Amino acid sequence: MPLLKTPAITLKSRKWGEADRIVTFYTLRFGKLRGVARGARRIKSRFGSALEPFVQCDLNLFEKPNDTLHRVSQADIKETFPALREDLALMAGAARMANLVTAITPDADPAPKIFDTLVQGFRSLNEGHEPALTTLLFQIKLLGLTGFRPQTDHCAACGKDTQTLGAGSTGRFSALAGGLVCDPCVHRRSDRYLFLSPGSLAFLQQALRMTPEVLNRLKASGQVRSELELAIEAYVTCVAGKRLPPVDFLASC
Ligand SMILES: [Zn+2]
Repeated sequence: MPLLKTPAITLKSRKWGEADRIVTFYTLRFGKLRGVARGARRIKSRFGSALEPFVQCDLNLFEKPNDTLHRVSQADIKETFPALREDLALMAGAARMANLVTAITPDADPAPKIFDTLVQGFRSLNEGHEPALTTLLFQIKLLGLTGFRPQTDHCAACGKDTQTLGAGSTGRFSALAGGLVCDPCVHRRSDRYLFLSPGSLAFLQQALRMTPEVLNRLKASGQVRSELELAIEAYVTCVAGKRLPPVDFLASC
């Protein structure tokens, strides 16, 4: 059984058998994968808290032939992001980032930029940046690193360059099409459209361009914030194929 070694982030874990856990990781070198951690629920487990949700660890796994479930042999804590397990709003933000990565990345398809963006997202939340805004920005960034990058330069339906639409663009965002849709397509299609003002569009394009390290310098409030929250929420629901637990679940109680 080959031994795999990689930095990893725990996306989620669930109980398995008497004392074990099945953990879904996003790893730097191998992308998303799952592993069984034998004895992880025992009080004196050798894994300690290295497999807690949102913890970054150095992970060793044995790859089992013809099985997508690996065996976790060792996990050493690298970065814990403690606030993410103590504050409910931060926990909800981190859970959304982890759920989005779980939903939109294929197994065993390494993408170091996704790993770095997730680590940086957890870091920003842990440092106390505004959780809902931080979560919005990092969702935009994560989508932008996958085949689900929100389309803003071309019509998401017909591919026409939206620059040519100029000031006449109605700024209609279709979650189903995956981005802005040009006026002729708006009339042709019966999608549900969300309006993005020029300010929201500029913000979205800037967030997609920026590196994760400086992403939390972007600030949005008022109309820009609410338009983008609605559009990204609709889009995330569409690409995940289901409604993910809300970012602000306390506010909605
Ligand atoms: Zn079009």
